[in-house]
Amino acid sequence: MHANVVVAQAAADPMTSPMGVPAGGGDEPRGTMGGPAPAALDAAVAAVLPSATALRHDLHRHPEPGFEEIRTLGRIREALKGIGLEGGTVLAGTGFIVDIEGTGPVAPAATDGSPRPRCIALRADMDALRMTEGNEGLPYRSTTDEAAHMCGHDGHMAALVGAATLLMQARDRLPQGTRVRLLFQPAEEGPGGAAPMIQAGCLEGVDEVRGTARWRHGAERRD
Ligand SMILES: [Zn+2]
Repeated sequence: MHANVVVAQAAADPMTSPMGVPAGGGDEPRGTMGGPAPAALDAAVAAVLPSATALRHDLHRHPEPGFEEIRTLGRIREALKGIGLEGGTVLAGTGFIVDIEGTGPVAPAATDGSPRPRCIALRADMDALRMTEGNEGLPYRSTTDEAAHMCGHDGHMAALVGAATLLMQARDRLPQGTRVRLLFQPAEEGPGGAAPMIQAGCLEGVDEVRGTARWRHGAERRD
């Protein structure tokens, strides 16, 4: 399943070089990027995968088209609350942002003069396509003939919640002052939710944005 790749990348990257977390600072085994060792990360991902999969299936059953993602938004907020991530801001109608704040030691100042990224945003789209799902036998088939998650946004959202779960567990590896912002963007398929979210300020203070897209066979990454 591609979700573990997304979660692993999201969990590993922001905690390491982009945030300037010193590598090898403790006794815990570290990967080549200074983050958790792959085996430990694999175990952490495996622990999160059942709830992420269940969330994806739930979202798949209840697809909502662009700017109508009301239940979807509620479900995401509920899931985030369940991992201790409360607050956040609803914007652009049904969009949502919330920050995971680092609680670790303050990172040393950059010595090469380069600006240090202070906030990395991870983005998922929320909307379904206005079409009827043809897969009659799917246990978590869409419950409406009006919409279906046939573009993988259910997986994107579930993977982002999964990544948030891992990041919440690893907040002490994020230096104080750094943040990972979760961006849940409505209406990717149309009429377009990115512009109103940006106009509402979702990228203020953000140094870089990362997103992924599932592909048909679940292997390729299309940033
Ligand atoms: Zn799409």
